[in-house]
Amino acid sequence: MDNCIFCKIVKGEIPSKKVFENENVFAFQDLYPQAKIHLLFIHKNHSSHINQMSETPQAIAEVFQAISQYTQEMGLDRDGFRVVTNLGPNAGQTVFHTHFHVLGGEKLGHFGS
Ligand code: 5GP
Ligand code: ZN
Repeated sequence: MDNCIFCKIVKGEIPSKKVFENENVFAFQDLYPQAKIHLLFIHKNHSSHINQMSETPQAIAEVFQAISQYTQEMGLDRDGFRVVTNLGPNAGQTVFHTHFHVLGGEKLGHFGS
C-alpha cells in the first residue's frame, strides 16, 4: 500500500523505534504511549483491519507468535500485558493497517465505554 504510514514504517521510509522484527512481523513503540509500555505489532503484509486480516489466518498466527516470543523474552508476561486491536470509528481506529496494541509495564485500568 503506497499511502500507508505503517507500510512506510516497515520499509524504513518513516522512522520508528523498532523493538522486534522477523521475516513477517514488525513491532515498534507507539508515538503517543497510553501506558508505560505501549507497542504496536503489525504484519508486513498490508491489511486494513482485523476482519480483512482474518482472510489470511496464518498472518494472525504469525503476529501472535511474535507477541508471545517478545513478551516472554522481555519478561512482560510475568506481571501481564494487554493486546488490543481497533476496527472502525466506534473503536477509534485511526491507522488502517491492522495493528495490535501491546500495553503493559504497569497496572492497567479497566476499559470500555
Ligand atoms: P488506532 O487508534 O488506529 O488503534 O491506533 C493507531 C496508533 O498508532 C495510535 O496509538 C497512534 O499513537 C499510533 N501512531 C500513529 N501514527 C504513528 C507514527 O507515525 N508512528 C508511531 N510509532 N505510532 C503512530
Ligand atoms: Zn500498510
